[in-house]
Amino acid sequence: MTQAPAKTSYDVVIVGGAMYGSSVAWFLTDNPGFDGSILVVERDPTYEFTSTSHTNSCMRQQFSAAINVKVSQFAADFVKNFRDYMGDDPRVPDVALQSYGYMYLADNEAFAATLRESQKVQAANGAGTKHMTCEEIAAAYPFYNLDDIIAANHNLVDEGYFDGNTLFDWWKRSAKERGVEYLTNEVIAMNRNAAGTKVESVILKSGEVISCGTVVNASGPRAVLTSRMAGIEIPVEPRKRYTFIFEAEKPLERDLPLTIDPSGVHMRTDGTYYLAGCPPDDDPAVDYDDFVQDHSIWEEKVWPVLATRVPQFEAIKLRNSWAGHYAYNTFDQNAILGRHTEVENFIFVNGFSGHGFQQSPAMGRGTAELIAYGEYRALDLSPFNYERIAKGEKFIEKAVI
Ligand SMILES: Cc1cc2nc3c(=O)[nH]c(=O)nc-3n(C[C@H](O)[C@H](O)[C@H](O)COP(=O)(O)OP(=O)(O)OC[C@H]3O[C@@H](n4cnc5c(N)ncnc54)[C@H](O)[C@@H]3O)c2cc1C
Repeated sequence: MTQAPAKTSYDVVIVGGAMYGSSVAWFLTDNPGFDGSILVVERDPTYEFTSTSHTNSCMRQQFSAAINVKVSQFAADFVKNFRDYMGDDPRVPDVALQSYGYMYLADNEAFAATLRESQKVQAANGAGTKHMTCEEIAAAYPFYNLDDIIAANHNLVDEGYFDGNTLFDWWKRSAKERGVEYLTNEVIAMNRNAAGTKVESVILKSGEVISCGTVVNASGPRAVLTSRMAGIEIPVEPRKRYTFIFEAEKPLERDLPLTIDPSGVHMRTDGTYYLAGCPPDDDPAVDYDDFVQDHSIWEEKVWPVLATRVPQFEAIKLRNSWAGHYAYNTFDQNAILGRHTEVENFIFVNGFSGHGFQQSPAMGRGTAELIAYGEYRALDLSPFNYERIAKGEKFIEKAVI
């Protein structure tokens, strides 16, 4: 069932109301340079099939690009000082952040060299990453089988799991209380001006035509469908990612860091259970509505890796599993932000691939600054701008999961 909007014109129309739609909306309400009207259009207010509902909600500082390190550092600061950031509202809870770190395992010299290089970038930007020898890993985490491993990078500061859904819930709630209108409806088309330089209005599934000053594409894996409404192509497609929750007959003596196995399988502590995930070997774009689980991936790929890397995981029970969609940036796997180069009032918050949850505070804040002031202020996010796509210049991030 669709809802009708209260007005026929808004300063900002946001297409999609999950993590990114709500982050941008809330940061706009919090920005002293902006006092305009905001409409968030959400086609499914249950959020059942969103990336946001299927996330693993991990946070790391182990990126190869300095700006990605800084983006995640703001996430850690935002999480640790959440109530302060939310206006010191006494109703706002503390947000869990479990810093058991990521453990990138290298089984060859080339990847070990990449890890050494990344560690230097991260340390230079204030991250606590340590490059570890095999002996150091074994001493700290005796449960790993390290037969094929030669080195690792690990960081125990502000890196691990965080409760990102609490951020989402409170951004949405607070944005609504501050006057943002959330509408259950779907944007199905857009009208541009005669010169093609501006989206003048969006058309809702229920037929209304809504004028807009700025339109923000926060449509997750459907981002390309939304951008096409404005005549814009972006390299973003839905890619399936599988998550498995399992219980170990004999739990490990200490938290399992989010371990990136050379096979591509990752695993971590998840409360009293454990979580594992991976991409499929064959990784095509999938249908927007295809969330079918492939159980052979658990049997044939994930479980054998778990049992080999952590012999104590020989005896485990699968407790839950799901398939979700990354909004996968096929061009360079980094976020796409900023204004379109020709359709000037069309703004992207897209293509976050597997690291969008932790990037939502910095990217939401920056996008709000861009709308309010015409520039990024707290952190220069311009390396992520759409412009690079138009120019064909990749912004490479080597640490993509
Ligand atoms: C399995 C998995 C694990 C992940 N793990 C991590 C992790 O550990 N750490 C991390 O940082 N990130 C992780 N991510 C990524 C992170 O979850 C996403 O980047 C983030 O949730 C994206 O949020 P979003 O708002 O852009 O997209 P979504 O959550 O997909 O929301 C898009 C919204 O737009 C709406 N919409 C689309 N089109 C329209 C339209 N035309 N009209 C109205 N509404 C529309 C949709 O209904 C939806 O609600 C993971 C993702 C997956 C799938």
